[in-house]
Order: sequence, then C-alpha cells, then structure tokens
Amino acid sequence: MTKITNHLPTAELQAIDAAHHMHPFSQNDGFQRKGARIITRADGVMLTDSDGESIIDGMAGLWCVNIGYGRKELADVAARQMQELPYYNTFFQTSHVPAIALAARIAELAPGDLNHVFFAGSGSEANDTNIRMVRHYWALKGKPEKSVIISRKNGYHGSSMGSGSLGGMAPMHAQGGMPIPDIAHIDQPYWYGEGGDMTPEDFGLARARQLEAKILEIGVDRVAAFIGEPVQGAGGVIIPPSTYWPEIQRICDHYGILLIADEVITGFGRTGQWFGSQTYGIRPHIMTIAKGLSSGYAPIGASVVCDEVAATIAQDEFNHGYTYSGHPVAAAVALENLRIMEEEGVVDHVRDVAGPHLAKRWHALADHPLVGETSLIGMMGSLALTPGTGARGRFAAAPGTAGFIVRERCFANNVIVRHVYDRMVVSPPLVMTPDQIDMMIDRLTTALDEAHAQMRADGLL
Ligand code: PMP
Repeated sequence: MTKITNHLPTAELQAIDAAHHMHPFSQNDGFQRKGARIITRADGVMLTDSDGESIIDGMAGLWCVNIGYGRKELADVAARQMQELPYYNTFFQTSHVPAIALAARIAELAPGDLNHVFFAGSGSEANDTNIRMVRHYWALKGKPEKSVIISRKNGYHGSSMGSGSLGGMAPMHAQGGMPIPDIAHIDQPYWYGEGGDMTPEDFGLARARQLEAKILEIGVDRVAAFIGEPVQGAGGVIIPPSTYWPEIQRICDHYGILLIADEVITGFGRTGQWFGSQTYGIRPHIMTIAKGLSSGYAPIGASVVCDEVAATIAQDEFNHGYTYSGHPVAAAVALENLRIMEEEGVVDHVRDVAGPHLAKRWHALADHPLVGETSLIGMMGSLALTPGTGARGRFAAAPGTAGFIVRERCFANNVIVRHVYDRMVVSPPLVMTPDQIDMMIDRLTTALDEAHAQMRADGLL
C-alpha cells in the first residue's frame, strides 16, 4: 500500500479519505464527491492545506484552539510525560501527579466552591457524568425520583446518548433513539429569531420563566437539575438577553434545583473572563469543561463540582469512570496550556484588546446588505443573514441555504467561518492580534460581497 503522507497529491488523499473515513456530522456521500479540504499544518492562527493555501482560522478548530497552533511547549510537555508515565488510571485508589496538579489548578481557577474535578475524555463524556452524578446525588439524598433534567431546545451538550439527549438538536434526536428518558426541554432565549415584538429584556424573562413553568408541570419532587450553556455555541452563538440568567438562577435557587453550566465553549477565556459563569453572574453547582482546557492539543474534559455535591457523592461508590479519566499526557498538556494562558495574560488580551477590536469590526458588518443582526461577547460572535426585507427578514429558500453559500465563499477566500442555518459564527483563537482580526474580517467581507452577488444572480434575493 502507498505510504500516506502530506506529500501525496490532494486528489489521492481525498480518494482514500472518501473510501475509508466516515466524517462526523457530514453527509459523506455528498461532500466526498467534491473531496475534503485537507489541513496539513498550522501555526498561530493560520492553517495550511494540502494545496499550500494559507487559511485564517476564525473558529479555533472547533472552538478549542484558544492559544493558537504550534506551541512547542505543549509538544515538549507531552513528549516528556509520555516518557515518564504515558498512562495510568485513576480508578482503584490510585492517582498520578498530572491529574492531581490539574485538578488543583482547575479548582483554583473555577469560581465559588467548585473545588472538585471528575475527569473525562471530552465534553460529551463529562455531560454524561453530570447526568449520572446529579441523579445519584438526589438518590443519596433519599429522593431517587428527582431524576428529570431540564435543558433547552437548540442547546448543544455533546453527541453521546446522554449528552445528545440533554442537547435540544432536533436533527440529532431524529436519529438513533434519543432522547433518553427523563430529559425535558424548554425554549431557548433566542430573541432575534423568536422574540417577536417583545423587548429583549421581557423576552429573556419570559424564556427563563419557562423553566419555572416546566418545574411546576413536572413537579419539583421530580426535577434534578437544569443545564445550559452560558452562551449557546453550536446553536448559533445565541447571546441571551441580560435578564435571562439572573432569572434562571433565581428559579434554581427557589426550587432547590441543581444548576449545571456547560462551559465547554465559554470556559477558559472565551467571553473575556475565565468562565462564562463569571461573565453572566451564574453560580453553578457543576460546570462542564473541555476544549479550551487543553486548547484542543489533547482530548480532555471534566465536570467541576461544588463542595456539597462532591461531599454527597463521596458517601457512596460512584460506579462511573472512563479509561482516559485524567489521562496523564492530556492532563500535563492542559496544565501547560493553563500556565501559558496565565503567564501571557490571554484572558486579559480577550477582555482588553482582541475582544474590543473584534467587536468594532464585527458590529460594523451590520451595514452589509446581507446582515440583519450582529452579536458578540468576548471572542465569540454571530451574525444573522437576511435577504434585506427588514431587520429580521427570512429567506424564501430553505433555512441554511444562504448560510451555506456564505460559508462556501469564506472557504474560497481562505477564512474559516461556520454557518448554523443562516447565522454565521466565529470563535477565533483567543490570541488573535488586531491585525489578524482585520485580515479575518476583510476576507469575510469579501465572502459576503461575493455571496450577495451570487444570491442575486441565482434569484435568492
Ligand atoms: N458542550 C458544549 C457546549 C459544546 O459546545 C460541545 C462541543 N461542541 C460539547 C459539550 C461536546 O464536547 P465534545 O465534542 O468534546 O464531546
């Protein structure tokens, strides 16, 4: 068999990819006719593909490469750890230094009394842990019937059976038997799309109060927890109205419901503070983390748990865990990533430099004829595409058609921007400089212009 390396021609790599590689969240038959774009190298905020094109990464991979690509310190730490102790588990009363050190560091960074860390290999796994942990918590409190977890439609919490059930993605629920029992969904705080004539503030309150109505409908003696992303990411970077989270917090406090903040995207600086919970004044009992924990250099996630829940869970053997819970190489890499973030002031950079500069350029896109709304917090933003028939105009074409066209033009202009139906979203590496932000927005603007011309020509506008 041919040795498969970066040196093979793109078409050959694409053919082998199509023959053997099943891609996540893709219709493999469809896109493989064109062939995958093959990324071969990356440095800083720039990717290189197999044709030698240089692409600016407006998505930090999948919202995760917060400190940018090519940081040799992380490679060195991984190499050292692999030689010293490549693997050991943390079951059966054993531990190791990378897991101990990382748990202590996360406890230091996490707000409030979130002092206890249960490791996982990913965000999905951590949310599966959360489902079992909150149900077991109530069972240990003598209330096993408190098992329902309330989450939101269009929320995203992962792709496993449990986490995918927590998520409110209808296309996911349509396949493979989700949701699992005892998960309930309320509507999302998406004012632009669903707020009608209400003010954002009234709408935020109304959507939060659906939680109260749902608790009362199900019965407070049946409800274990509420879970939400401080800002919905995969749902289209939906930034909630300012009234939303305070009301959710009030309701959780009032009914004694556990509050889980899924910080897989919003954690580690994305919103301009270490955690989105700090940005939005949320006091979670459990936080889900992954992605930016290691800047994506190694797969790792975790549930960060408050004193009281951890103490309760500690009363019994918790029959749960993963082979790679606290994997020493991943833990060492994450620890080094957090060291770099602190020493280089990456969160301050988001708050004081990159975030404000991106905000200026991002909100100026509102003047573009295809853009109906721009929203941004820290270094995550979205814009709603509109056919120009009023600020909240909808396209006659199927939802996602316009977004796909803009995404294709972005691809052609060597900028990675994602589309969620007809919203374009960005979530760049947090270390992006103002000059690089300018390059990203300039390329996106060209893509929007080209998409606008194409949609006119195709009669979509
Ligand atoms: N929660 C949120 C908020 C996410 O954005 C994601 C991934 N996009 C997950 C959980 C799942 O994480 P993973 O893909 O690492 O399983």
